[in-house]
Amino acid sequence: MELATLSSQLNPVFREALLARVRFYHDLGLTEFYRRPVDPALAQDMGAPSLDSQTWNNSAQPALFQEDQPIPPRKPINAPPQVAIPQSAILAPPQEALQLIRDEIGDCTRCPLHKGRNKLVFGDGSPTARLMFVGEGPGADEDAQGIPFVGKAGQLLNNMIAAMGLQREEVYIANVVKCRPPGNRVPEPEEGNTCSPFLFRQIDVVRPEVLVALGATAATYLLGTRQPLAGLRGRVHAFRGTQLIVTYHPAYLLRDPRQKKEAWADLQIAMKELGLKPPSRG
Ligand code: SF4
Repeated sequence: MELATLSSQLNPVFREALLARVRFYHDLGLTEFYRRPVDPALAQDMGAPSLDSQTWNNSAQPALFQEDQPIPPRKPINAPPQVAIPQSAILAPPQEALQLIRDEIGDCTRCPLHKGRNKLVFGDGSPTARLMFVGEGPGADEDAQGIPFVGKAGQLLNNMIAAMGLQREEVYIANVVKCRPPGNRVPEPEEGNTCSPFLFRQIDVVRPEVLVALGATAATYLLGTRQPLAGLRGRVHAFRGTQLIVTYHPAYLLRDPRQKKEAWADLQIAMKELGLKPPSRG
C-alpha cells in the first residue's frame, strides 16, 4: 500500500491532529519518525477515533513500517560552502546580482518539488539588508503569490520584525527551498540539497550582518548538520562571515504561542548584534 493511500484512509480529524503533532516535534528538531503497529482494540480503548481496520492491519502496512524492516539510512544534508563568494567577485550591484540568480533558476525543474508548484518563491526585501531571515519553504499562500511569508506565519513574522524596530522592507527573507513541498511537508534532503545553493548565493549577495534561521530545517541547511533546535537557540553561531541566530519558525509559534517569549529572547540577541533597541511604546 502506498503511503499516500494509507494517509488518505485515515480519519481526517485524526490525520490533522497527527500532522500537527509531527510538525510540533519537527519544530523541536526531532525529524525522524517511524510507526509501530498498533492494536486497533487498544487504540480505541485509549480514545483514538475509530479507524478502518485494514488501515491498521499489520499485514496491510507498507514495507517501511514492517517491524523486521531496517529503518532506511538518513540521507545526508550537504554542508554549506565554507567561504562566502568574495564581494569583489560579485560584479553586479546587489539588486542586479539577485536578479541574475533568479534568471539562472528560471522555470526550475531541478528537483521534484517543481511538479506541485504554482509560483516559485525566490525571496523578498532589501538586497542590502543588515538582517536576513531564512525559513523552510513556501506554504499555500506563498505558493499562490510567489512571495515568502505572506500567510498567517508571515503576519507573525512581520510583527516580530516590527517589534525589533524594523520594517519588513528593510530585511531580506528567503527559504531553503523555493517551491512548496506537498502538504507543507519537510523538504527531502534531495530537494534541500538541490535548492539550497541558490540560497547561499542570495546570502552572499545580500551579505547581512545577522542571519536568523527560522526553525529546524533552516538551521540544518545553514549549519550543514542536523541538531535539535533546543541546542542551537540562545547563542550566536559564526556562519561564513555572518552572525547566525536560530529561533522557532513563526508557524510553530502560531501552534504554541507560549514559545513566543523564547523567540523574542532570540531576536533580542539579533538586535544586540545589530545595535538595535526596540521601539518605545510611549
Ligand atoms: S525547490 Fe528549488 S531546486 Fe527544486 S524545483 Fe524549486 S527552485 Fe528548483
